[in-house]
Amino acid sequence: MNGKLKIYDTLSKSLKEFEPIHAPLVGMYVCGPTVYSNVHLGNVRTFLSFDIVFRYLIHLGYKVRYVRNITDAGHLENDADEGEDKIGKKAKLEQLEPMEIVQRYTTDFRNVMQQFNILPPSIEPTATGHIIEQIELTKKIMANGYAYESNGSIYFDVEKFSSQYPYTELSGRNLEELLNNTRELGGQSEKKGRLDFALWIKAKPEHIMRWPSPWGEGFPGWHLECSAMSSKYLGEHFDIHGGGMDLIPTHHTNEVAQHLACFHQKPVNYWIHTNMLTVNGQKMSKSLGNSFLPHELFSGSHALLERGYSPMVVRFFMLQAHYRSTLDFSNEALQAAEKGFTRLMNACKIVDALPVSNQNQVDAQAILEQVYQSMNEDFNTPLALAALFEGVRSINAVQDGKLKIDENNKAILVKLYNEMVFDVLGLQTENTQNENLIDGVMQMVLEQRTLAKQRKDFAASDAIRDQLKVLGIEVKDGKEGSTYQINL
Ligand code: AMP
Ligand code: ZN
Repeated sequence: MNGKLKIYDTLSKSLKEFEPIHAPLVGMYVCGPTVYSNVHLGNVRTFLSFDIVFRYLIHLGYKVRYVRNITDAGHLENDADEGEDKIGKKAKLEQLEPMEIVQRYTTDFRNVMQQFNILPPSIEPTATGHIIEQIELTKKIMANGYAYESNGSIYFDVEKFSSQYPYTELSGRNLEELLNNTRELGGQSEKKGRLDFALWIKAKPEHIMRWPSPWGEGFPGWHLECSAMSSKYLGEHFDIHGGGMDLIPTHHTNEVAQHLACFHQKPVNYWIHTNMLTVNGQKMSKSLGNSFLPHELFSGSHALLERGYSPMVVRFFMLQAHYRSTLDFSNEALQAAEKGFTRLMNACKIVDALPVSNQNQVDAQAILEQVYQSMNEDFNTPLALAALFEGVRSINAVQDGKLKIDENNKAILVKLYNEMVFDVLGLQTENTQNENLIDGVMQMVLEQRTLAKQRKDFAASDAIRDQLKVLGIEVKDGKEGSTYQINL
């Protein structure tokens, strides 16, 4: 009835009908954050785009195994094979253990994802948790003849690889041009070819994050972790691999090469790449200094903002652009999004109680088909929203007595708005948001109380419990920890 889902595949540069390898199972891998700083809104846009892919596939009845990694080692400054580890560098700066940095920013990342109602993945593996798998993959690539050892480091031999496979297929770049634009290797270089990249890097004495390997103490190259973790949890050939577009030329190009060199087949049938969130036309990024942190947006404390906006308004704002288009961040766009979001939420609130009649002047089926057609066209959320707003006009007109709707058409609308707006687009009413906020604050309060008890500061832990009681919140202590109940 609604056609089939089509996905734009970056590798073949075409819109392809979605055929999972083992329907109804779907395997999807998305490159996750490097946890050395707070996530900014650009990062949020990418993970939100894949949240829509995840939610829509579930909605269509697929059983999705969604793997999104946490990069907690191996990602060096400037995304290159030299320089300091981003996490190690921050740890030195703050005089903390690298794992304290990892813990802090992983927690921040998860909190931000929850604030935006982005569903957690099925598996969230870490690079440091898969060192053995990365060493094994390196051994395999060496055994297959596509990597070599040089002074305790292992490099991928791009020249050898590209005599068998197309190295630049994903990026669409010309190999000759790429070679010409890459810096010549210095006389001291351990690499044979200038496009070669590290699979394993020998740790210098000052490098903190290091592991033993057959080649001495070192750490994995950044690209290797994704090949190791995706093949471990999704197999040697799975359905979807995704990430931001900025990852195509190096990280994903090298991932494809590693995978082919190891398993002699391409990793996936669909490569999905999301476009960038920009500020005045420039990519939002930490290094450019134009990034917004989520809490600066909610509170309106950022210098470029006139006031704050709720997470759901920002989510709605992002859904108004297709994931493959750039999206520019501005005060005006956020204000408009707030109006749109309120109008849509209001329609969702009244649709359940619309008065029905024997007559019908609303073609609910046409609205539904429009919405599904849009989502099936490569997850086109702006078109789906436009169709939903067509419906909002009808819902409001029925409410005002200007149009009539029968039982059947009303039932179609109720189901459509509940499923599409809440389950697939993942929007929430402000009430749900407030509940989530209260729950977040309560978890914090209960944790503080547990810490007080551990310090044997029972006066403080009792005071927290008593003060909450005055507010109508009852704390219950059980074997599994403390829970709370709101009695208002
Ligand atoms: P990182 O933590 O730097 O590895 O980035 C995590 C993800 O965010 C990657 O998939 C990036 O492509 C993506 N990303 C970074 N900046 C932006 C941006 N301005 N807009 C959209 N996605 C971004
Ligand atoms: Zn990756």
